[in-house]
Amino acid sequence: MRYVSTRGTAPSLPFDDVLLAGLARDGGLYVPETWPRLARTEIRKLRGLSYADLTARVIAPFVGDRIRESDLVKIAEDAYAGFGHSAVAPLKQLGADRWLLELFHGPTLSFKDYALQIVGRLFDHVLRQRGQRITIVGATSGDTGSAAIEACRDREAIDIFILHPKGRVSEVQRRQMTTVESPNVFNLAVEGTFDDCQDLVKAMFNDTAFRDRHRLSAVNSINWARIMVQIAYYFAAALALGAPERKLTFAVPTGNFGNVFAAYGARRIGLGIDRLIIGSNSNDILTRFLGGGVMETAPVVPTLSPSMDIQISSNFERLLFEYYRRDGRKLASVMERFRREGAVAFGTARWRRMRGLFDGYRLDDEETKEVIRQVHEETGELLDPHSAIGLKAGRELGGPGGSPVIAVATAHPAKFPDAVEDATGVRPQLPPRLADLYKLKEKMSVLPADLSAVQDFITTRLAGKVAA
Ligand SMILES: *Cc1c(COP(=O)(O)O)cnc(C)c1O
Repeated sequence: MRYVSTRGTAPSLPFDDVLLAGLARDGGLYVPETWPRLARTEIRKLRGLSYADLTARVIAPFVGDRIRESDLVKIAEDAYAGFGHSAVAPLKQLGADRWLLELFHGPTLSFKDYALQIVGRLFDHVLRQRGQRITIVGATSGDTGSAAIEACRDREAIDIFILHPKGRVSEVQRRQMTTVESPNVFNLAVEGTFDDCQDLVKAMFNDTAFRDRHRLSAVNSINWARIMVQIAYYFAAALALGAPERKLTFAVPTGNFGNVFAAYGARRIGLGIDRLIIGSNSNDILTRFLGGGVMETAPVVPTLSPSMDIQISSNFERLLFEYYRRDGRKLASVMERFRREGAVAFGTARWRRMRGLFDGYRLDDEETKEVIRQVHEETGELLDPHSAIGLKAGRELGGPGGSPVIAVATAHPAKFPDAVEDATGVRPQLPPRLADLYKLKEKMSVLPADLSAVQDFITTRLAGKVAA
């Protein structure tokens, strides 16, 4: 299996190079050269597998011959062993053919763990094969930092430095990062804002000498491997509800379009999906596009669902690539126009074709809280704000012809306790395995928002670790 760039000019690469590369050299995103295809008989054979075995089976054709399938099984078993539910990605029934796919049983209680726990191990596996080390550097306003740290902790070939704005992330979020006890994890509390942290990270990547010396890398949401691993839970849910004999609809709260693109990927490799429903908060570039056919940027506004406070959904380019019939050069010029003008339409016929599969619904903060309150009253379940948006979008738009609707729950309610308590009067509790979070010792280094101070810190910590 090889991968091509959505902008058509970067060289095609095998899986392991795509894993380490992130963005393609022409500014595009990597996608598989062809989608593998699982026949119905093969899909039936996936029934009853453990979640780890299912994941290994689903990702094997995407990985190709670069990693042995027996190694993928070991990696997946190890990745999901510590999850807080024996089904890993359990389905909960909320009504007649209304389901919730709970993707918050990982170490940091968000769906990002499902991919990152595998991706961290894949990085380590490939790097050790090559005798190389890398240094992951990232900035976080809260959520992604902890999932990345949990994915990279204790890995032999990786060091990870995460910058967060000092005093500006919630206590749960900070503690999820700073209480991780591992010699390769470094938390930097920067005296500044999230933008300062992001600028520092960008400056480090732009400093070629520094970047090459420490082999800087990122585990951001444009990495193909994350999408690939997420395909597995769509299969798990569909198999539990009768696939491939029955088609389904998924409703997904969406920010960068990674999660819902994985659902699209599941459909491309053979899963019967009737419709994909996108839920958005007030940062609604995608639902506006689906409604009117024009994609137009707008300033980001902060909401109760901060992981979806995004202006441009980077993974949407992967979908456009398919709807441009894989003409990367044409898409490159369209994306260039979008970057220049801040607005673009992709043609009515193309938009209609997209609308044949996708639909979108938007909720503001008040509506989100109302959904959390209602669902709690009706079912006793507490939803986090992101999950509530997906669920409501699914309820409003429904599946065609009575297709069962599965809403994807992307975070545990205890990650956003204030919003949930405000809506329901009930303060959600952390699961027992995380209950000592407030007692564990924190470890972080406070640094000024100054490039040379941060670079010196990283260089000093890495001294003595052998870079190949
Ligand atoms: C990251 C995140 C999302 C958005 O997922 P995308 O793949 O970026 O669309 C939604 N909910 C939660 C809780 C998240 O952490």
